[in-house]
Amino acid sequence: MIKAPNIAAFNPPRRILMGPGPSDVHPQVLAAQAKPTIGHLDPLFITMMDELKQLLQYAFQTRNEMTLAVSAPGSAGMETCFVNLLQPGDSVIVCRNGVFGERMRQNVVRCGATAITVDNAWGEPVSPAAVEQALKDHPEVKFVAFVHAETSTGALSDAKTLCALAKKYNCLSIVDAVTSLGGSELRVDDWGIDAIYAGSQKCLSCVPGLSPVSFSPAAVEVIKARTVPVQSWFLDQSLVMAYWSGGAKRSYHHTAPVNALYALHESLRLLAAEGLEQAWQRHNDMHQLLKTGLEPLGLNFVVAQESRLPQLNAVFIPEGVDDAAVRKQLLEDYNLEIGAGLGDLAGKAWRIGLMGYAAKRENVALCLQALQNVLVKSA
Ligand SMILES: *Cc1c(COP(=O)(O)O)cnc(C)c1O
Repeated sequence: MIKAPNIAAFNPPRRILMGPGPSDVHPQVLAAQAKPTIGHLDPLFITMMDELKQLLQYAFQTRNEMTLAVSAPGSAGMETCFVNLLQPGDSVIVCRNGVFGERMRQNVVRCGATAITVDNAWGEPVSPAAVEQALKDHPEVKFVAFVHAETSTGALSDAKTLCALAKKYNCLSIVDAVTSLGGSELRVDDWGIDAIYAGSQKCLSCVPGLSPVSFSPAAVEVIKARTVPVQSWFLDQSLVMAYWSGGAKRSYHHTAPVNALYALHESLRLLAAEGLEQAWQRHNDMHQLLKTGLEPLGLNFVVAQESRLPQLNAVFIPEGVDDAAVRKQLLEDYNLEIGAGLGDLAGKAWRIGLMGYAAKRENVALCLQALQNVLVKSA
């Protein structure tokens, strides 16, 4: 017998989460998650799932039937899009201007497809001109994949223009909206996005672990016309849809994360009550407020003004300042989490998130005050 360890219940502190995600979870969302678990084929649960789909269609601004939440984090939403749409031998343009574009490329390769990369420097948006050149040079390409809001750098790319380009060259678009959904303007139907995935824990301010996805009718046709089965049983949308769109005939695929879906339902209800455009505006307003306070502290933005993400503010760490020590002190003295730099920006930048419920005046004020105090001490 291995002896039972004597361990106390876990009591996390109440932190203020202003990093790249997870973001602060709204108290109503936490409360929703604590409601009684019911069966995932219970008629009342199915009604909740139908509402959840309507709420997701609103958040994405789409009428796509195939709109649902993958039972796993944003990375699984990414993988869902690639494994369902790509077949071995397909060619895909993958735009890289940060960490997540490179992950898309790895997904493409693992599908047995060919990735044609279009690179932009970290901190820059994806260049539509470079994408168009790649489309001209590679008439065999079937898909264009890019990250709308690059969380590793804080750059926003022009999804509307990039998707229009994909369409012009008869390609489908695959869009990472993990950090943009709920925080930046995003219109799936108007912009002609074919496959999109997001995350629960960024601007939706829901608990981590779910990935909203949506597929256009054209993308659904591609999935239906597959000759090679999707290599992932779990992520195969043709099987998952029997569960999400079956109405009363819904049949078992996997046990839905029941309580996490209550939380997503509540977070999307809160978004709908605020209004999508109002939420986008609030993220912008809080970004402006933060920016006004950051610059006098000598903290300069990584990304040029015109392509800055309001919900992810990457700033250079001033010369001589100890990156890890500052973040440790913010956490210990202020219960405040900001993000470290990732990839090329590791040790060089901080990433200050203003996502969802965390995008509010009190947080901006606290963050500025705390940074000022800590930077004065460390100078
Ligand atoms: C966070 C993030 C992901 C990955 O989401 P996980 O929930 O961490 O798996 C993918 N793309 C972008 C742009 C992200 O910010």
